Amino acid sequence: MAASTNPHLQITDVTKNFGPQEVLKGVNLSVSKGGTTAIVGPSGSGKTTLLRLIAGFEHPLAGSIALNGTTVAGDGIRVPAHKRHIGYVAQDGALFPHLTVGQNIAFGLDTAKLAGGRRAVAGRVSDLLEMVSLDPAMAKRRPHQLSGGQQQRVALARALAREPELMLLDEPFSALDAGLRVATRRAVAKVLADAGVTTILVTHDQAEALSFADQVAVMRGGRLAQIGNPFVVYTRPADRATAEFLGDAV
Ligand code: ADP
Repeated sequence: MAASTNPHLQITDVTKNFGPQEVLKGVNLSVSKGGTTAIVGPSGSGKTTLLRLIAGFEHPLAGSIALNGTTVAGDGIRVPAHKRHIGYVAQDGALFPHLTVGQNIAFGLDTAKLAGGRRAVAGRVSDLLEMVSLDPAMAKRRPHQLSGGQQQRVALARALAREPELMLLDEPFSALDAGLRVATRRAVAKVLADAGVTTILVTHDQAEALSFADQVAVMRGGRLAQIGNPFVVYTRPADRATAEFLGDAV
C-alpha cells in the first residue's frame, strides 16, 4: 500500500527548514483514497510539521504535495489551506474557549452554502454532534464544561463540518485516559470510515496504529525510515533504531 496508482495524497521529495534546522529531509509518502495512515516516530522527528505542510499552514522548501493528482504545494504553487478540503484536529483540540460548543462547530460550517439561516445552522450542528456520539443539548455548553474526550469529539465535529476529503489528526487522543481513549478512537474511526474520509493520524500509541491504520509510516530525524502495513512494520522493523523505537512505544 506504499504506492498507489491513483493516490489521494502524494508527497514527493519534500524538504522543510526552520532557520538553519532541516526538519524534513526529503519525505515521500503516498496515501490512497479512503485509506488510513498512521505516522509514528520520536518527538521532534517532524511529524507535526509534515501534517502542517499537508494542511497548507506551512510550505515546503523543495519538493511537492499533490491532492487527487493536482499539485497544491511546490513548483511555485501554493493552494491556500481553506481550498484543500482538509480537516485538521490538533493535539489539544484547540476549541475557542469563549464560544459555546455549537458556535465552535458552526465556525467550521460554510454558512454561505447553507440555505435556511440560523435554524439550518442549528440543525447541522445537532447532526454533527450526533455523528460524534454527543448529545445535541451540549451545543449550549462552553468547552470548559466538557471532559477532555468530549472536547476532542467537538474538535472533530468542527473539522467534519467542512466535509473534508482528508482528515489530519495530530495525536488527538493522547490527553485522554486509557479507557476513554479506546472508546473515543473507536467512535472517531467509525465516523471517518462511514464518511469515506482519507485519514492521517500521528500517534505514539502502537495499539492505535495497529487498529486504526492500513499503512504505518515511521518517521525519524526528518525522514520516513519505513512505510508498510502495520503488521509488517511492527513484526519486521527495517532497522535496529526503528525496532528500538517501536519497542519503546508499546
Ligand atoms: P514531532 O511532531 O515529530 O514532535 P515537529 O514537527 O513538531 O516534530 O518538530 C520537528 C522539529 O522542528 C523540532 O526540532 C521542532 O523544534 C522544530 N520546529 C517545529 N515547528 C517549528 C517552528 N515553527 N519554528 C522553528 N522550529 C520548529
